[in-house]
Parts: sequence; structure tokens; C-alpha cells
Amino acid sequence: MSERSALSAEQEEFRDQVARFVEAEITPNATAWDRDDGDHPYPVHLFGRLGELGWLGVGFPESIGGSGGSPVERCVLFEELARGSAGVALGIYVHTSLAVAALATVAERGLAERFIPSLLAGELTGAWAYAEPDSGADVTQVRLSARRDGANFVLSGSKMYITNATFADLILVVVRTSGEPGRLAGLSVLAVDGQSEGLSRTPMAKLGMRPSELAELHFDDCAVPADRLVGELDNGFRRCLTVLSQGRVFAGALALGLGRAALEAAVVHVATREQFGAPLAAKQAVRMTIAEMTARLRGVRELVYSTAAKLGRGEDYDTDASIAKLVSSETATWVSERCLHLHGASGYMLDSPAQRFYRDCKVNEWGEGANELQREMIFAAVAKGYRP
Ligand SMILES: Cc1cc2nc3c(=O)[nH]c(=O)nc-3n(C[C@H](O)[C@H](O)[C@H](O)COP(=O)(O)OP(=O)(O)OC[C@H]3O[C@@H](n4cnc5c(N)ncnc54)[C@H](O)[C@@H]3O)c2cc1C
Repeated sequence: MSERSALSAEQEEFRDQVARFVEAEITPNATAWDRDDGDHPYPVHLFGRLGELGWLGVGFPESIGGSGGSPVERCVLFEELARGSAGVALGIYVHTSLAVAALATVAERGLAERFIPSLLAGELTGAWAYAEPDSGADVTQVRLSARRDGANFVLSGSKMYITNATFADLILVVVRTSGEPGRLAGLSVLAVDGQSEGLSRTPMAKLGMRPSELAELHFDDCAVPADRLVGELDNGFRRCLTVLSQGRVFAGALALGLGRAALEAAVVHVATREQFGAPLAAKQAVRMTIAEMTARLRGVRELVYSTAAKLGRGEDYDTDASIAKLVSSETATWVSERCLHLHGASGYMLDSPAQRFYRDCKVNEWGEGANELQREMIFAAVAKGYRP
């Protein structure tokens, strides 16, 4: 029986299509796009390619410009993209599963209709800006202020670590429209043009996920039309928490794809690298490691896809999403570390995918809610009767 047997024949066919695309257009470039030398910016053309193929719209209803399908297909997309390059997958994930998903879930119809079709066609690129110097895992600490001035909101303050923000056409920015830091009430979301006057972006260099681009955003009395409000004033961000919760499922698929890439690289290496007169795989300790990597990833696959299926059926999925995100990210980190270990010095060289997996994996443990917060949420659910 195939390890993918939980998917339908159509979903398997979709996976094969994405895998062929990734093998042809992403994997061969993954090492070059990982270089942090300024000559390898994010491959923005992929938004157009994936838009043409209808894949950016996977999991979004056709009525809003999506391609239909369910969260399961969206997981397939992220797993396969991340198998080629987790950094590339991250940029697409932020665009679809945070920026577009927030518009689709929370925005008034007019605003959603105005932007979602172009974003899902890949004609516009999106970013999601929540994090700030003082607002990390604690989402209540957002300080970037947006005060109403006639027909506009005027933004002052900054955001940090924002993926895609170096080039994004539309940035969904979480702002404080009332109240003091420490409260979720008073946090709103605005869809801000990337080229707005008063907005400047400073690129940030980072350890991993290098094909994706991060920026710090500075808002200096930046005027944003009031009709760019996404959802309710003072309550828009609270409603976006659903988007973040759903995002954990897709982030889990991304971590699964990264872990699979690390396992596959390790399998090839231990079969071909000879020491003591035989391939490394002749050693029982090495075989046990490969078996353990495989078993853990198999468990992650079950978690991610069963949670995606629940989400698609409209069932309660929140706690499962926390578990899927927690286990997938920590498994990806463990598997990537084992992959590097099995490669020895060759994996430590900058042209080796093994060191790239090792650098790429870690951020999954904080993104979409720090894993400690997932553990807190899981504990709270258990206390209310959740059973695994
Ligand atoms: C590559 C990359 C891409 C990113 N892209 C985006 C983006 O597109 N948009 C965006 O808004 N942000 C983005 N971020 C930022 C991301 O939102 C933050 O990293 C995240 O919110 C965590 O905040 P922090 O990094 O400031 O960590 P902190 O909140 O300062 O946490 C530091 C450490 O404390 C731990 N911790 C936190 N809370 C608790 C707790 N309650 N109990 C115990 N331990 C705890 C964390 O797990 C971590 O180990 C990105 C970051 C990176 C590195």
C-alpha cells in the first residue's frame, strides 16, 4: 500500500503534477536561490506561473476567484513545493494562506472582490505584517498606530520580519486603532499598497529560508484610504485568528515537505557513501536512524492530512492543527539535524542541500504561533476533555 493512500486518485494526480513542476522549475535552482549574495532575489515569476496553473487558488472557492478544491489539495501543494525549496514555499504560503486567506475570511465583499482574483492569478503579490519589535509570540503587543484622519487612516510605527514585504504589491498590516498594548480589542487590519507614500522597507538578512525575502517596514505618517479596512474596526485582527489557526495546517504540510527532502537526501547519501569497505547503510546504527526518520515523518503525514480533511469537512480542527504544527515543525528540525549528521563534512559545505534543510527548518517552530503556545492550547483543550 502506498504511503499516500489517504488521498483520492485526483489528489494523487495533483501531487504528481506539482512534483513534476517542482522537479523541473524549483529543485534545480534551489541551491542558487539559497545564496544570500544579493544576486538571487525571490523568484517572483513563480507567482505568475502558479497563478496560470490555477495552483495559487487551490483551496479557495471558485466564487471568489479560486480554483476550488479543499485544504487537502493546498497541503499537497505546500508539501511538494517545500520538498523542492522551503524558502520558495514560504513566500507562496504567506501570499495565499495568510494574505489572501485574511481577505477571503474577514474583508468586506467589495475589498475582497477588488484584490483576491488578481492575487490568486499571481498578477499581484501579497504579504501579511503582524510582527513588531515588541510583538512576537504575544500578539496583543502590537503598537503600530493607525489614527483616523478624514478619509484615511494615518500609520506611524514599524513592523519586522515581514516575508515578501520587499516586493509585495499589497500588505495586510495589523494596526492598533484604539486601546493600549496588552489587548486584542483595538487591533484592526488594513490592506496597504506596497508603494504607499510614507512606507519604506529595509531588507533583513537571515539564517535560513533564504529564497524568501524579509523586510522591516517603517510607516512615517503613511496615509491609507479608510476603505482598505479589512473587516471590522478594532476587531479585524481577532477575526483573523481563524486564518492563523488554519495556517498551522498548511505550515505543517510545509514542514512535512522539508522533512521529506531531508530524509530522501539522507537515504541517497548513506547508500552511496562508503566507509570501512561498505556503504554507510551497512551499519545498523545508520539503518535505525533512517527508519526512525521515516517513522516520524509518516506520523506527521497522518496528522497533517487528517487535520486538513477535518478542516475541509467543517469539523472542529483547532487542537489538531496545534498538534500538527507542533509535531511537524519539531520533526522537521530533528530529521534535518539527522540528515546533516549522516552527511558528515560533505553536508556541512554550502553547496550541500543538507545544510540548507538544517537552516530552513527552525523557523517553523515559531511561525504561526510559538510551539510553547501550541502546547498551552493543547493543554487547555485536554483540560476541557479533548482526547487524542
Ligand atoms: C523567516 C521568518 C519569516 C517571518 N515572516 C513573517 C511574516 O511574514 N509576517 C509576520 O508578521 N511575522 C513574520 N515573522 C515573525 C514571526 O511572526 C515571529 O518570529 C513570531 O511571531 C515569534 O516572535 P519572535 O520571533 O519575536 O519570538 P518571541 O516571541 O520573542 O519568542 C522568543 C522565544 O520565546 C519562546 N516563547 C514565546 N512565548 C512563550 C511562552 N508563552 N512560553 C514559553 N516560551 C515562549 C519562543 O518559542 C521563542 O523560543 C517571520 C520570522 C522569520 C524568522
